[in-house]
Amino acid sequence: MEKELVIEKLITLKDNGQSGKGFYDKIVNKVVKLYNKVKGKKPKKQNHLKDGEKHAVFKDKDGALVAAKFAGPNTKTYENLKELIKENGGDLTKALQDKNFASLTDKEALIHDIRYDLYAGDTKKIREADEKFVKKIQEIRKKEGAFNTVPSIAGIKGKMIAEDLGIISKDKFSGQPRNIPKDERMLYEQVVEKLEQEGYGKLDRPIRPVREPDVPFGKKKCECGSIVRASGLTKHKKTDKHKQLIAKLNK
Ligand SMILES: [Zn+2]
Repeated sequence: MEKELVIEKLITLKDNGQSGKGFYDKIVNKVVKLYNKVKGKKPKKQNHLKDGEKHAVFKDKDGALVAAKFAGPNTKTYENLKELIKENGGDLTKALQDKNFASLTDKEALIHDIRYDLYAGDTKKIREADEKFVKKIQEIRKKEGAFNTVPSIAGIKGKMIAEDLGIISKDKFSGQPRNIPKDERMLYEQVVEKLEQEGYGKLDRPIRPVREPDVPFGKKKCECGSIVRASGLTKHKKTDKHKQLIAKLNK
């Protein structure tokens, strides 16, 4: 039991930024293999992480561990999608069947990745994509449980909270508009349409607007109206600028 917990902890480990490229994928590929061997599990389909991919790990219906094809950073979305379609004789509908994904979270991650690519640079659309992601994964949690869903929910929720607090710039994640090659864009739009018909794109409430924080993280608003560093507030109050602004306000 304890051993199992240790392994489960290990595979949910996210890269801490200190490990080199290709470290996480190698570890996960090894751990997945070892775990299934020890447990006597044989996943119907295994996915090997490509160099640099930092994907989540899921448990399939039989309890075997399977590395995600799409969920996680450094996803080679287009490449992996084309691979999946090829495995299904070039048939997109076949490729997108639930049984081709170790977890429905991976399927939702695919459309989330695509929305990021299609809407890069559009803060509002990216927020909408994040909201749709969280809602769908919460639905999936009821079917598949916490193991396959909680890390993904926490990741995206954390990102949205950090953006609202001004800790991370929304631009950083909404990115620069990308010039997507025509073939890629057309395939992406087809996937979005198909998956949205399956319910991978519904929100039952209006999208929470991305809040522009009036006071960025680590700063404070003085009664004179100036935005200053939180640690520098006392010093600021002694400045002429502050005194002049207060005098103006009291006029
Ligand atoms: Zn002031």
